[in-house]
Amino acid sequence: MINPVAVAFDIDGVVADTMSLFLEIARDVHGINSIRYEDIYCYSVVECTGLDQQIVDSVVERLLDGNYSAKLEPMEGAADVLARIERHHSPLLFVTARPFLGPIRDWLLESLSLEPHSIDIITTGSHENKTEVLLKRNITYFVEDRLDTCDLIHDAGISPIVYKQPWNRVPHPYREINSWKELEALIDFNGI
Ligand SMILES: [Mg+2]
Repeated sequence: MINPVAVAFDIDGVVADTMSLFLEIARDVHGINSIRYEDIYCYSVVECTGLDQQIVDSVVERLLDGNYSAKLEPMEGAADVLARIERHHSPLLFVTARPFLGPIRDWLLESLSLEPHSIDIITTGSHENKTEVLLKRNITYFVEDRLDTCDLIHDAGISPIVYKQPWNRVPHPYREINSWKELEALIDFNGI
């Protein structure tokens, strides 16, 4: 069982349905209709869809800046489960490889219906830098959708929990969750 004080969360692909937003921006701005969510079977969108790097970069830039009209949705169940965890341990810790906060802090507060003091977000700017942040915060479980990051944190003694996505469907040795409900079942709400 996972102690609420010992767990932290990635944001994109775990709390936020960022890939759906990516596809919506690609459609709205670049007229790309041919790619489905399930087609993103690897972490590099360029590699698995054949989209131009330039287009992917431009969509990602809009996404990071909040420069879009589509709506970023939370993953199903994320708000309820995070609110429950927050009642046991606050602030919730989010560690993202985004280079800057941009709109994501306000989005989290709004989507999760939490107060500013209830969340702590660290932007690392790189996947590699997540490990150091997690170690410093004494985090022993991290919910993540990128398998390469799971490998890195696992090497540092942190237990990854893989949030199932089309881009992490290769064999891996880690605990995996299909939904926030499944994560909720792993949390020890009586421990503290
Ligand atoms: Mg992610």
